Amino acid sequence: MNYDVIIIGGGPAGMSALIWCHSLNLRALMLEHAPELGGQMLQMSHRVTDYPGMITENGRELRDRFVLQIEELGLEWRVGSSIEEINLKARRIKCQGQVLTGRAMIIATGARTRRLGIPGEDRFKTSGVSFSGTRDHSRYAGKKVCVIGGGDSAVENSLILSRVCPHVTLVHRSETFRARAEWLKQASENSKITIMPHTRALAIEGGDRVERLIVEDTDSGQQKSIATEGVFIKIGIAPNTEIFGGQLDLDNKGYIKVDHSQKTSIEMVYAAGDVCRPLSLSIATALGHSAAAAKAIKREFDHLSNTAAIT
Ligand code: NDP
Repeated sequence: MNYDVIIIGGGPAGMSALIWCHSLNLRALMLEHAPELGGQMLQMSHRVTDYPGMITENGRELRDRFVLQIEELGLEWRVGSSIEEINLKARRIKCQGQVLTGRAMIIATGARTRRLGIPGEDRFKTSGVSFSGTRDHSRYAGKKVCVIGGGDSAVENSLILSRVCPHVTLVHRSETFRARAEWLKQASENSKITIMPHTRALAIEGGDRVERLIVEDTDSGQQKSIATEGVFIKIGIAPNTEIFGGQLDLDNKGYIKVDHSQKTSIEMVYAAGDVCRPLSLSIATALGHSAAAAKAIKREFDHLSNTAAIT
């Protein structure tokens, strides 16, 4: 089947791209591999007050409004659509046995929470390991917990957890922190928070639930066991670019390189949202990328048809 634009990914960037393609009279199809649309919006448990035009209780509610809009516009999308093969140069995809081609593509595959890859991280994911203190803090009220990471997320989570937990240990592999100075100062002045720099997490252990975190001092190599009932892993995000297997240029962290119009290193292939390392991670940024990409594609199509008309 042929489309003007194939959009890969059904988070805010993908949904916005779909809406913009419709506005620009481009026939588009959006493919999402997960069973429902929304991407990282589905993990936003806090009240969303910084999205102009509406305040929602969480990301899912905002997602529902996006979905309502694409339904009302009668747009075309599929969920549970894993990509079996992809050829970006040919803008051809094989998905559920069907070959789909686009004159252009917008990659909006987003990013995912980075994992430590240590023993216990998977085993305890429903019994003491969490990837969000914002979402899960009330379940850990009254418990001693550890947070791993040294960026804004880890320090912010430590501060949030310190409001309900008797003690929080912030474990960070490096000496210096990436977190903003203001939050780091608040954490270091908080008597409920112990900061452990140059400390690497080695394993999460326990019985039915998490009971301890095994760590190592990166200077001395000395190992230590920290008694804890919860381990919050906040070590950043990683882009979902594996499926493109070296077909387009990525930066040194694996994010897709784009120009000012969101164009990638491949003709007629654009990228939008977290997959191309925005300066600021936000829904608003993802939506802006998609608008820029769809408009640039429309310009390219118009240019091609004008050139064809002249020759
Ligand atoms: P960051 O990429 O900023 O930080 C990740 C941290 O995790 C780093 O300290 C890094 O350590 C550590 N880390 C990475 N991989 C590993 C590993 N394998 N083992 C142990 N430690 C590891 O991620 P954040 O999620 O904190 O923030 C992402 C972005 O979101 C930032 O731009 C941040 O400003 C933003 N943000 C904004 C918020 C807000 O404005 N309210 C709230 C939270 C985040 P090292 O330094 O050694 O590499």
